[in-house]
Amino acid sequence: MSDGAIRGCVVECYGRRVLVAHDAGAPLACKVRGRKLDVVAGDEVLIEKHEGSDDWTVGERLARRNVLCRSDSRGLEESIAANLDQLGVVVAPLPACDPFVVDRYVAGACLAGIAPLLIVNKLDLPGDAGDLSYIEPLRKLGLPVHLVSARSGAGLPELITALTGKRTLLAGQSGVGKSSLLNALAGDAIRAIGRLSERSGEGRHTTVSSAIIRQPWGELADSPGVRDYTPAVVPPQDVQRGFMEIGGLAGGCRFQDCLHLREPQCAVQAAVDSGAIDPRRYESYRRLLNLNRQLDDKRGWRA
Ligand code: GDP
Ligand code: ZN
Repeated sequence: MSDGAIRGCVVECYGRRVLVAHDAGAPLACKVRGRKLDVVAGDEVLIEKHEGSDDWTVGERLARRNVLCRSDSRGLEESIAANLDQLGVVVAPLPACDPFVVDRYVAGACLAGIAPLLIVNKLDLPGDAGDLSYIEPLRKLGLPVHLVSARSGAGLPELITALTGKRTLLAGQSGVGKSSLLNALAGDAIRAIGRLSERSGEGRHTTVSSAIIRQPWGELADSPGVRDYTPAVVPPQDVQRGFMEIGGLAGGCRFQDCLHLREPQCAVQAAVDSGAIDPRRYESYRRLLNLNRQLDDKRGWRA
């Protein structure tokens, strides 16, 4: 790294092109050097400009506090955003959300060491508009639940309080109102990103793959492309870390490597039988364990 390196934070990411905010002036458009360096919004980086070149390049990524990853359909890991404080999972009564996808988001956050919270949008719709019964078990586990309406603005001041001083990635299934919510929370900043993605790239339209939206009260992170979510593949024994009530009981099982499926004297299965663990959450754990294995097989087969 040359002496002229500047430290900054990636605030917009367009594949191998990024926008880096830093203390010394306006944000700089940079290229990411090499194919191997994985850089996403939220990453702290060192950028430099080589003699005789007009281009800034990202030469180094600094250590990450955490990174939210997903698995693609081939089982390959993809970073979404780095150095997050919270993952806000947006749901709504309509279109109906798949609770297993909600659990997968929550699991991904827990696995990455990022605090999950639930944002229930479209509060303005009638109370019977959709089935939200999957929320109560999550609330009982200690997840903060915020009821809001991007349309009417209800609940937004309270939500902003929960986002204050934090960097929060908003994620959710298509149609739940994530864009509307981002607009209601940070409209002007988002329109600025839109203009930038039209301009950047070699004259062609580029779409942002992840961005940090700075607000006076905190930072929102957005990854517009991510509509469905499966956590990155982990060893089978680690899947339970995505389900706090399951991972938390594992110490009481007879076998140290218990996966809580059909093993004897399993504290988790006992808790499901007694009703202490929500059966749907347990089913979600089993499904993710299964999916994790399938993705691992695909990945291994390719490697
Ligand atoms: P996204 O796919 O999650 O980004 O969702 P959008 O923000 O594009 O919103 C999907 C649809 O839901 C649009 O028709 C929005 O107008 C509508 N929508 C968003 N927020 C609300 C809300 O708070 N209340 C109601 N009733 N509709 C909303
Ligand atoms: Zn067990």
